[in-house]
Parts: sequence; structure tokens; C-alpha cells
Amino acid sequence: MRYISTRGKAPALSFSDVLLTGLAEDGGLYLPETWPSFSLSEWQAMRGLPYPELAARIMRPFVGEDIDPGTLRSLCEKAYTGFDHPAIVPVTQVEDGLFVQELFHGPTLAFKDMAMQLLGQLFEHVLTERNSHVTIVGATSGDTGSAAIEACRGRDRLSVVILHPKDRTSEVQRRQMTTVLEANVTNLAIEGTFDDCQDLVKALFADMPFRKDMHLSAVNSINWARIAAQIPYYVYAALNFGAPEQEVSFAVPTGNFGNILAAWAARKMGLPIRHLCVGSNRNDILTRFLNANDMTMKSVMPSLSPSMDIQVSSNFERLLFELLGRDAEACARIMTSFRATGHMDVPAEAWETARSLFSGLALDDAATEAEIKGLHDRSGYLADPHSAIGIAAGRRFREAGVPMVAMATAHPAKFPDAMVAATGIRPALPVHLADLYSREERYRTVPATADAVKDAVRAAVLSNA
Ligand SMILES: *Cc1c(COP(=O)(O)O)cnc(C)c1O
Repeated sequence: MRYISTRGKAPALSFSDVLLTGLAEDGGLYLPETWPSFSLSEWQAMRGLPYPELAARIMRPFVGEDIDPGTLRSLCEKAYTGFDHPAIVPVTQVEDGLFVQELFHGPTLAFKDMAMQLLGQLFEHVLTERNSHVTIVGATSGDTGSAAIEACRGRDRLSVVILHPKDRTSEVQRRQMTTVLEANVTNLAIEGTFDDCQDLVKALFADMPFRKDMHLSAVNSINWARIAAQIPYYVYAALNFGAPEQEVSFAVPTGNFGNILAAWAARKMGLPIRHLCVGSNRNDILTRFLNANDMTMKSVMPSLSPSMDIQVSSNFERLLFELLGRDAEACARIMTSFRATGHMDVPAEAWETARSLFSGLALDDAATEAEIKGLHDRSGYLADPHSAIGIAAGRRFREAGVPMVAMATAHPAKFPDAMVAATGIRPALPVHLADLYSREERYRTVPATADAVKDAVRAAVLSNA
């Protein structure tokens, strides 16, 4: 399997190279050259498989020749051993025709673990084969950083440096990162905002000599391997509801468009998915696009669902490329002008195609809180603010005869203040994190300048050598 860039000017790469590279050289995102698909009997044969085995079957065509099937299966098994539910991705019914699939049973209590735990295994495997080492550098406003740190901790061939905005993440989120004390993990508290952190990471990657010297690599959600690793749970849910003979719909609380893109990919592979529902908070650019073909950037506003406080959904570029019939030149033109003008001109035909499959619903904080409370009153189910938005979108667009499955992307204990405000209940942290508030923390406070961050990265890599 080869991968091509959405902007058409970068070399085609294999799975392992795409894994290590992340963003394509031409600024585009990698996609498989052709979409693998499964036959009716192949889908049927996957029904009832344990999750890690199912994940290996789905990943196999994407990985291609790079990793042999037996090794891939054992990497998948190792990836999901740290999950605290035997089903890994359990599905619960909350209302007639409305179900919740919980993606937060991994070590950091958010759905990022689903892909990141497998990426940790894949990185270690590929780097061992190449006898190489990389330094993963990333910025986080909360969930991505802790998931990356958990996936990389203690791995010899990886150093991980995560920048977070000092005093601007929730305490649970910060402690999930800073209480990991392995030598290959470095936390930098940046004296600035999340945007500053992202700009600093970009500056580091733009410095080619530094990037080469330090073997920088990224695990943000533009990395294709993360999308691929998110496809299996959609397959798992759909098969359990009777696919491929029965249709199913999904509702997904959406930020960077990575999670829902994986659902779209599952459909592309032949899974009978009827409808995909995007849930947004007040940062509603995707909902505006779906409702009125209005993809106009506004400034990011804070909300109860911080992991969706995003204006530019990077992974949308992959869908756009497909909507344009894989016309890379048109895709590059539209993306460049979007960056320059803040407005994306999506051709009417492409927008119509998107609308026939996707719908969007945006909830402000008051509506999110009401959803958390109403759902809990009626069903006893406690949904965190992100999950609640997905559930509300699922209810809004559900149709008779088609099960609607909403993705629960974070454990409610990750957002205790929002839960108390909505329901009066403070959800307890799972056992493995119960002492989080009393663990030792380690991080360095660093001014928001590229030089200071580069020094910190050099020191981290040296001390880990
Ligand atoms: C990252 C995240 C999201 C958004 O997922 P995307 O793939 O960026 O659309 C939603 N909920 C939670 C809890 C997250 O951590």
C-alpha cells in the first residue's frame, strides 16, 4: 500500500514512512492510494472477534507489506492490554434507537488512547527494525499530550517532549502528563497560550537542521496512522448491530475532524453507514459548513469541551480531496486560499455530496450542560461535555430502523467541575488514577521563545541518549 498527498506534490510513501513523517512535504496530508475494501463474507467473518484481533484485520491492508500479519496482531494485542474494560470499546443503550460507544477506557481516559496506544507500539517496532530513534514533539491543550506521553513512556527509541500552556489546562489534564517520571518524557510548561505552543512546535519543525539533528517526529491527528487506528471501533459497533446486512449511523463530537473521518473511511471500505453526524460546541465552523456551505474561520472561543475548541479542522482536507474527486491541484488551491482569506470556497457539487452523508449540530455551553443533566435524569448515564454533544447530535438526527451510535470520547471524571455544575455529581477517577492528585509532578517552565524550547529539547534528547 502506497500513500499520496492531498496536494499532489510530495513523494508517495509506504505505511512506515507515513507513520514517521506525519505531514507531507508539500503541506498536504497523506491518504491511501486506493481504498481497501472487504467483501460481504469477510465482514461477516469479523463479527464477534475480540477487539485487538479485529483491529489487526482492519489495519492489515493499510500497513501492507511493511509489517507481517502475525507481528501486527501481537502489536494490536499489546496496545489494548492497558484498557480497563474487557470489551475495550463497550456499547450501551441510553434511549430508543440511541446508543453510546465508550472510547475512554484507555490509560488517559480519552479516545486519543485508541490510536495513540497502537502508534506507540508501531513506532517502537519500526524504529527497532531501522535501528533508529525519534524525538516526538507536540503541543497540547489537554488530551493529546497525555495520550502521547502514555503511549511513549519508557520506550528506548522514543523521546517525547510535550508543550502545554502553563496554568491553562485542567488540573487532571496537567497531572496526567507531569506525573509521568520516565527519563524519556519531558513536559514543558510554556509561558503563553495553546496557540503559542502550536506556533513554537511549527517553528521547531521549520528549522530543517534542528529537525534533522533531533530526528523530530509528530503524532498529531494529521498522522495517517492515527486515522487508520480509529477505523476498527466503527467496524466493531456496526458488526455488533448486524452490519453488513443492517445499516447503522454514527454521531461524533468533532474538533480536528479526525475521529469522524475514520468513520467515513469505514464507509469507504464497504461498511453500510447511513449517516454521519458532527457535534460541535460554540466553535461551530463545521456545522456552519454543513448547514450553509459557510466555512469561515472565527476566533477560537473557550468552552466546556476544550478538546473541540478548534476553528481549522485539519483533517477536513482529506474529505475535501475526496469530495473533489481526488483533484490535488484544486485541493491545494482551495486550502491555500483558505489559509490566506479565512474562507473556504467549496464547490457547490462537493458541498451537496458532503451534505447527503453528514449533518451538523452545534451546542453552546448552556445547551451542553442541559444535555448532560437531561440525559442523566432520564437514563442515569453520565456523559462528559464532549460526549454529551455527540449524544445530542445523535438524538437530533436518528431515524427509525437505523441504530444511532454516539461516540463517548472522554470519561466524565476528566471534567469534574462541569459534571458537578450539571448534575451535582463528582465522578470518581478510575482506580489506576485514584492517587493522581497526590503524585509527584515534574515539568520545566519555559518562556514562549523558539530558542528556549530548542534548548529544552536538546537537553531532553541528550539526557535520554
Ligand atoms: C480530541 C477530542 C475530540 C475531537 O476529536 P477530533 O478527532 O479532533 O475530531 C473530542 N472529544 C475529546 C474528548 C477529545 O479528546
